[in-house]
Amino acid sequence: MYYRAKILALNNGRAYHLAAILRRNGDVVKVGENTSKTHPRFKRQYPDGSWSSHMHAEMNVLRFAQAGDELEVIRFKKCGHFRTMAKPCSLCMDEIRKAGIKKVSYTNWDGEWETIRV
Ligand SMILES: [Zn+2]
Repeated sequence: MYYRAKILALNNGRAYHLAAILRRNGDVVKVGENTSKTHPRFKRQYPDGSWSSHMHAEMNVLRFAQAGDELEVIRFKKCGHFRTMAKPCSLCMDEIRKAGIKKVSYTNWDGEWETIRV
């Protein structure tokens, strides 16, 4: 499971390698990676005025989310063997709340899991 997430994330062609796993009653519903693909729903403006609609891994799977689902976000370092900080950004947290996700787990700087009750 995490192997598949890792392969997806490491082959995304981006500087950051993130994978998000959407779970429902413990079952995996969808695995997503961050991509440079754009999605109009997630368009946003940076403080410097430039626009971006790059999809974060979380947003990639939130399209499939139902209320009560759980989300896991993992970030892999370039070499692929270590996990690092993957806490969802505030924009993703907004979408996570809107989607009705009840629990978010993410890897911290030490590669350990941390949990947010949404
Ligand atoms: Zn984000």
